[in-house]
Amino acid sequence: MIKKYAQIIISISVKSLDRIFTYGVPETLRPSLGIGSIVEIPFGAGNRIIRGYILGFCEEIDFDPTKVKYILKQYEEVGIESELLELAVFMKNRYVTTMQSALGTLLPSRPNVRKKEEKWVRSLMDQDQLLDMMRTLKDKKIYEPRRRVLEVLLVKPHIPLKEIMEEADVSRGIISTMVKHLILEFETNISIRMPYDLEAYDTSINLAPNKEQDKALTQITQSIQQRENKVFLLHGITGSGKTEVYMQAIEQVLKVGQSAIVMIPEIALTPLMVKRFVERFGEVVGVMHSRLSEGERFDQWRLAKEGRLKIMIGPRSAIFAPFEKIGLIILDEEHETSYKSEMPPKYHAREVAIYRARYHMCPVLLGSATPLVESYYKALSGKYTLIELDQKAEALSPLEVETVDMRKELEKGNTSILSHELYEAIKATLLKKEQIILFLNRRGHSNFVSCRLCGYVLKCNHCDVAYNYHKYNHKLQCHYCNESIPMVQICPSCGSKHVKAFGIGTQKVEAYIKEIFSEAKVLRMDYDTTTGKDGHKRILDQFEAKEADILIGTQMVAKGHHFNNVTLVGVLAADMSLYVNDFRASEKTFQLVTQVTGRSGRGDKAGRAIIQTYTPDHYSIMSAQNQDYKNFYNNEIQYRKLMGYAPFKEMMSVLIISTDEKYLIQLCHRIKEQLSIYDQNKGIEILGPSPATLSKIRNNFRWVIYIKADSYKALTALANHLYNINEQEDHRHISHMQIDLNPMMS
Ligand code: ADP
Ligand code: ZN
Ligand code: ZN
Repeated sequence: MIKKYAQIIISISVKSLDRIFTYGVPETLRPSLGIGSIVEIPFGAGNRIIRGYILGFCEEIDFDPTKVKYILKQYEEVGIESELLELAVFMKNRYVTTMQSALGTLLPSRPNVRKKEEKWVRSLMDQDQLLDMMRTLKDKKIYEPRRRVLEVLLVKPHIPLKEIMEEADVSRGIISTMVKHLILEFETNISIRMPYDLEAYDTSINLAPNKEQDKALTQITQSIQQRENKVFLLHGITGSGKTEVYMQAIEQVLKVGQSAIVMIPEIALTPLMVKRFVERFGEVVGVMHSRLSEGERFDQWRLAKEGRLKIMIGPRSAIFAPFEKIGLIILDEEHETSYKSEMPPKYHAREVAIYRARYHMCPVLLGSATPLVESYYKALSGKYTLIELDQKAEALSPLEVETVDMRKELEKGNTSILSHELYEAIKATLLKKEQIILFLNRRGHSNFVSCRLCGYVLKCNHCDVAYNYHKYNHKLQCHYCNESIPMVQICPSCGSKHVKAFGIGTQKVEAYIKEIFSEAKVLRMDYDTTTGKDGHKRILDQFEAKEADILIGTQMVAKGHHFNNVTLVGVLAADMSLYVNDFRASEKTFQLVTQVTGRSGRGDKAGRAIIQTYTPDHYSIMSAQNQDYKNFYNNEIQYRKLMGYAPFKEMMSVLIISTDEKYLIQLCHRIKEQLSIYDQNKGIEILGPSPATLSKIRNNFRWVIYIKADSYKALTALANHLYNINEQEDHRHISHMQIDLNPMMS
């Protein structure tokens, strides 16, 4: 085909212009342009010069050829592969965003960052010649600097110029002279900025797989070799050897000359994973995350593209590693909410992974001890392939988990945050000089109201999620459907007066613990104490080094590091995450409690975990206590079905933000009206509008409308429609709309 015309997508933030335009291709550019090339084009009535990406070519157009505008030039920087361009189009459609936003996410921050050039020197003499020359120069004082250079070359015949000047303590002039004498030569080398120090690691070899791992590996290996586009759900308790399975599966990927992506839920876990992988695979392991310097990130991107890296490890954005041939994509801890982007485009890494895997014809491996209900549902219905690891890979010491009913504590007159059992257990553990984690599963803004005497929680009848308590007007409000009732003074269930808003912060807990265990050294880990680059790691390192006896923290303490001296974990108030105003509350609680209790007894001493709760009969608590995922799932799936939540319905949230509250509320109602008109038998359910959980941030009021539908497609169509309505509505530009498909609150 002659590349006469090109379809170009422009990188512009105005949504209505986010479509494809056709431009003429000047003959001179035809040979060099390809799909994904970046070009400069005249645009609009004023022929403003902007950049665009080539999506495809054609030989004919269906409009007046005299109206055709021509591409002006091709940018030198490498364009992106057609695969990633296609992926951007997929993201634009699936997450109802602009091409600019999708491309911005896909590409490294500045694709035109210059490669870092560095001068190197290379010896032109072999070892014997070098030694010879050193001997000759030995007694001549003025040749002393040259002799030092030769000495360095002897060990490092290929070395950066800066380094040899430093080590030999010579000026550049000396080196230049030696270059003239053909002792060595200059070389312009592109140095690689690696984010880790290869030499700091040991090496490791494959462990002989146990029976379960072997079965898992057989299935995954077959998929890799036969290039099956399957999604595996590897459900295995912590310590069952999932990571070992990942590594041995990747070995198979490398054997067939392909690359692999390994995603982890958060940056803080990167060093641990990188260590294990580098020890096994060496320098083909790459790392990608937002804390790398721009240069490092660009180098990782480039090395992946050139095929010098084969394994990319990192949080969410590692999914965009520009590998030419992917053989396996892994999501570790696939249930984590961090896989969903909170910034537009609000993509889910699992969905992007599955899309890329389809392109590359390779399997996806989702791993978790507590899979997302939606994933397990897909596995049971055959859409994913389920693999279960039920055994611990190493013989670990036993873990004893118990729950304490806090209602009984109150009856006994104990109003403190520690039950008698937990208090005694802490005391005993301190005596044995073992360590303790106290976990406060505070999630976002849990401000529900419950009865301390009977455990009753005030919930919305329509949505079966807990009401949010609003202090300013003493009302209880459902943030899905906006129903509200006055704050209650008396428990509707038992008549007691012990109904209160629930909530306690880590700081308060810390003060209390320090007071009653004044001898103990206490560390606190929450968003306030973990700021800065290594805040998180610093605290965990300190605790691991046994510099403290008790670690108090939010969900950050649930993951990462392996503490072998922790023999007691206390969950202070399991209910705290159980009744946030979110349909995933039970699931999140089960995940967190399971994860954190599992931190006890990881060493050679037996572990104990105590879960304090006002609702010990709740299936999330009971299942976590018994480490019984299936029991949790069977209960949760019934609730989801009954109430019409995922995986049975798709959901979309429309957040509207404005500084003018009155206008905002009216706008929300107008939008809702428009939606109702649009709906007409499309089977859409509109909830709200109601104030968002965070109803006011920095003088911006925030309201939200939830929409449920049977199909995802119905929602994307609706999202497009909404953007159009909004563009027409908002003449004054004082409001802002954010749409989130399948929102995951964290
Ligand atoms: P997970 O990722 O499921 O938590 P890991 O892969 O980290 O589990 O394994 C947990 C521990 O068991 C690690 O210390 C690992 O080295 C060890 N392990 C894993 N597989 C085996 C095996 N086949 N034989 C012996 N030890 C193993
Ligand atoms: Zn409701
Ligand atoms: Zn009560």
